[in-house]
Amino acid sequence: MTKVVAITGASSGIGEATARRLAADGHALMLGARRVERLAALGREIEAAGGTVAFRRLDVTDAEDVRKFVAAADERYGRVDVLVNNAGVMPLSPLAALEAGEWDRMIDVNVRGVLHGIAAALPVMRARGSGHIVNIASVGAHEVSPTAAVYCATKFAVRAISEGLRQESGGVVRVTLVSPGVTESELADGISDPAAREAMRAYRAVALPASAVAGAVAYAVSQPAEVDVNEIVVRPAASAQ
Ligand code: NDP
Repeated sequence: MTKVVAITGASSGIGEATARRLAADGHALMLGARRVERLAALGREIEAAGGTVAFRRLDVTDAEDVRKFVAAADERYGRVDVLVNNAGVMPLSPLAALEAGEWDRMIDVNVRGVLHGIAAALPVMRARGSGHIVNIASVGAHEVSPTAAVYCATKFAVRAISEGLRQESGGVVRVTLVSPGVTESELADGISDPAAREAMRAYRAVALPASAVAGAVAYAVSQPAEVDVNEIVVRPAASAQ
């Protein structure tokens, strides 16, 4: 069944791959991110392949902007079936580096951004009697490693919020948590701490293509209304962590 899907952070990596995959599966998309020129290029590519797509500049740290993003999807297509809360940042560093600004940014994007998405989509979905919220967490929602304390904390939070939302939704809104292992994307480019950046180079040597995570999202989205895929963890086969 064709659905209307809004995706945050669709300008690169997993969000971009998810947009490509869901468009190819026949779904109508609303894409959001700050780099609109990237969204425009992706939109042109999807349309040229026969897909249905619109995009809007989006900063997930701004609750009102996220509300307008979901409203724009609703206005454009007459409903919003799925919200993929994908936008995220990962400026890793040891706690002793006291990068408080980067801690705040991770909390603002990875946690507040997801809550803003839920706040924007939940009333629309509840009013319509159905919906599906897909939150992109991480294997860091299940385990902690050095330099990643705050990043993992934000992803543990996304996991807790997802489970609480699922329990409260009474079957009206389905909730899926997708937790990828290392995946090819621009995520590690934002690491400013030199030691953490170097450590990540080795850790990220074995990586999934972003299309593999997109496939996990597509699987959850494709399930019949009475089936809620609660959680998917997807890692490179060769990766131990
Ligand atoms: P990328 O850096 O390639 O993509 C991140 C996306 O988030 C970009 O589209 C970026 O768009 C967007 N974004 C960042 N800040 C904001 C903001 N304030 N408002 C709106 N959009 C924003 O990384 P990934 O594709 O890897 O990341 C996607 C998700 O997957 C994240 O939640 C990440 O934590 C998670 N993840 C990734 C893993 C990996 O190894 N790659 C592993 C586990 C989880 P723009 O800058 O244009 O706004």
